[in-house]
Amino acid sequence: MTTDELREKLLSAPKNGYTAMTPAQREELNAYCKRYAAFMDACKTEREATAWTVAEAEKRGFKPLASGMQIHPGDKVYLNNRNKSVILAVIGTQSLAEGMNICAAHVDSPRIDLKPNPLYEDGGIAYFKTHYYGGIKKYQWPTIPLALHGIICRKDGTSVSVCIGEDETDPVLMVSDLLVHLSADQMKKTMAEGIAGEQLNVILGTEPLDGEGADLVKLNILKLLNEKYGIVEDDFHTAELTVVPAGKCRDVGLDRSLLGAYGHDDRVCAYAQLEALFSIDTPAKTAVCILADKEEIGSVGVTGMQSRAFEYFAETLCLSQNVRLGECFSNSFCLSADVSNAFDPNFPEVSDRRNNSMLNYGVAICKYTGSRGKSGASDASAEAMQHVRTVLDRAGVCWQLATLGKVDQGGGGTVAAYMANRNIVTVDAGVPVLCMHAPMELVSKLDCYETYRACKAIYLG
Ligand code: MN
Ligand code: MN
Repeated sequence: MTTDELREKLLSAPKNGYTAMTPAQREELNAYCKRYAAFMDACKTEREATAWTVAEAEKRGFKPLASGMQIHPGDKVYLNNRNKSVILAVIGTQSLAEGMNICAAHVDSPRIDLKPNPLYEDGGIAYFKTHYYGGIKKYQWPTIPLALHGIICRKDGTSVSVCIGEDETDPVLMVSDLLVHLSADQMKKTMAEGIAGEQLNVILGTEPLDGEGADLVKLNILKLLNEKYGIVEDDFHTAELTVVPAGKCRDVGLDRSLLGAYGHDDRVCAYAQLEALFSIDTPAKTAVCILADKEEIGSVGVTGMQSRAFEYFAETLCLSQNVRLGECFSNSFCLSADVSNAFDPNFPEVSDRRNNSMLNYGVAICKYTGSRGKSGASDASAEAMQHVRTVLDRAGVCWQLATLGKVDQGGGGTVAAYMANRNIVTVDAGVPVLCMHAPMELVSKLDCYETYRACKAIYLG
């Protein structure tokens, strides 16, 4: 053999996904990304993603899971976990004893939550006090347009949804930063210290009510909220309100090859696996789509992936077929669909280029996450990686490898370890992202589309 022939035969040769894309696929890719962008515009919190998913699932014939229900191949069921997480399944022709094909993503994203007693006035300005949720660089959040999303439970037992700042005619909110003229001291601080958590106070207004006494600006804000939502200040104690970047998902780049939005992590994978589930006919193995909450703070809580809500869901399915849950899990496979860090030429020093995902090279498969010697990673086996490789290659999916930065640079985790702890073989895979956890994150449209195709291939085994 010549050297060229050996090179061709022996060497790994990852290719930019556009090199193999047909015009028809490009059209499909663009149509897919338009649907994804619309989902992003409608869903900025786990609650909104859950509500959207339940509504779309019902349109497609999915029925709420009920204890004791009988299920048959082709049946479509879902569990709305307390309006913050949702699990869906399309029942396969095989017994659940053969296992399920699961895709698990999360629909919560880093953001700024209101404190339970948030409203105050200082220096003639009304503010919300906040406590950030998940890993953010605090300095990125001042001086950008922000929107308020969430729910308030009122004293009378009713609740009301809140969304301010997304409609063109809405006002937006903002956190201030110091003018550069007086920033001599601030500019000497580290980027972690430049804006403190207790400085992420959200500006609400400045106009006082007529009258005497203190807090007339605050009182005016409360009056406006009372008129719109029927709430009083005590109702903040029983609210879940969050501040997120205002605005829509946008095409980025002169060639429109990228999408910029708040919260691609991890709704970009959540949407991929959801549309994939909606697109399949009755599979051989039961296909399960999990949209989890609380991943950004450790997958804890009743709606996080560590919750036994998933056991409740899977056990209800298994009982109807007289199958042991443990048997079903032991034969199941899970794609932990979460984003990876795309290689950023502006910061090459944090990555091992040979092992980092790249924009436009397709869905990124990640053997392990974790930090400091893979700590906290489920570390997929060779056989598990081989399963994914076989399934994706058979479906012609464009895929690549990913690791989370160079050794000892940092790290992170996903829901993978919690799925693996259930005795379910699990591999991480997802869309490479630039500026992960920033108010605006970037993904490539091609990678979004290939992740959708990957999820579909996994469901179909
Ligand atoms: Mn994530
Ligand atoms: Mn994240």
